[in-house]
Amino acid sequence: MLACFLEATKKVSVKDVPVPKLAAGDILVRMEASGICGTDLEKIEGQLGLGGILGHEVSGTVEKVSKDITDHKPGERVVAHHHVPCYQCPDCFNGNYTLCNEFKRGAVIPLSTELSFEQGAMIEPTACCIRAIRRARVLEGDNVLVVGLGPTGLTQIQLLRNATKGGIIGSDIVEARLQLGKKLGADETINALAEDVPVHIRKITRDGVDLAIVSTGNEKALNQAFGSVRRGGRILLFGAPSHGASYQLNVSELFSRQITLLSSYSCVEAEMEEAIRLVEEKRLDLKSLISDRFKLSEAEKAMEFARTSKTAIKTIIVP
Ligand SMILES: [Zn+2]
Ligand SMILES: [Zn+2]
Repeated sequence: MLACFLEATKKVSVKDVPVPKLAAGDILVRMEASGICGTDLEKIEGQLGLGGILGHEVSGTVEKVSKDITDHKPGERVVAHHHVPCYQCPDCFNGNYTLCNEFKRGAVIPLSTELSFEQGAMIEPTACCIRAIRRARVLEGDNVLVVGLGPTGLTQIQLLRNATKGGIIGSDIVEARLQLGKKLGADETINALAEDVPVHIRKITRDGVDLAIVSTGNEKALNQAFGSVRRGGRILLFGAPSHGASYQLNVSELFSRQITLLSSYSCVEAEMEEAIRLVEEKRLDLKSLISDRFKLSEAEKAMEFARTSKTAIKTIIVP
C-alpha cells in the first residue's frame, strides 16, 4: 500500500509500505478519502515538528479486525478518530477530555450511508469546530468575527448561524473564501488586505464584536481579533500556532478592557457524532468546502497545491 511521508521540512514523498499487521485491539481500515489539514501544511513548513506519515482526517472501509474486536466488522464504513481520552482521569472528570494524558489513542466511528466518504473525511475538523464554538459559550445575540475563512473558519460560520441571531463577520485575504463565507451564512466579509479589520468592525458593530475566533495559525490574525472585540469581549484561539510561537500583547489593555482569552484544541467522539448528525440533518454543508481532489499517488503534488493555491478551500486525497 502507499503512504505519504514527511521526510524533512518541505520534503514529502509517497512510498510503498507493507500493510500493517494487526495486534490485539487493532482495526485495519482501507482509506477512501483523507483531508489535507492546515496542520499537515504547517508540519511540511517545519512549524509543528516532523510528523512521519501525513493525513489524519480519514474515512474508509473496515478491511480486517483483530480477534478480540466484536463491535466492528469488515465492510463497515467508518471515520477514523485519532484522539480518544480515558474518561476516568481528573482532566476527563472536569470535561477537559482533550487534555487527557491518554488522549492519543485511536478509534473508529460508524459513518452512515447518508454521508459520502469525502464528507466523512471532514468530520474530525468539523468536530473540532463544534467543540470550539461550545467552549466560546455563544449567546443568542452575540456578534462574532471569524478571522481566517479556510475550511474550519467556513464551518464555524455555519455553526454560528445555528447559534446566534447577531451579526457574523468573516475576514480573510483570499477572495474565493470571502465569497463562500457569505454564501454559507456570514452577514459581511472583510478582505484584510484591502481594509483595516478593527476599523471596519467598529463601523458595523459600534463597540466591537462580542467574540472573535482566530481560525488560522498566523499570529497577525490575533491582532485583528484583539482590535475587534468589544470591552468585556472574548477571543478564542482555534488555528494551531507554529511551534514555540510567541506574541506580544498589550496586557494593560487586556486587563482594563477585561478581555477573555480562550483556546480550543481537538475534539472527542461525542463531537464527531454530533458533526455526523448535523450533516445528516442538512444543517451543515461540507460539500461546498471541497474544492480539489488528488490521488494518493499524487500526494506530493496535492500538498504543494494546498500550500500555495489561492483558490483551494479543502483538498481531499482519494485512493
Ligand atoms: Zn486536522
Ligand atoms: Zn483522561
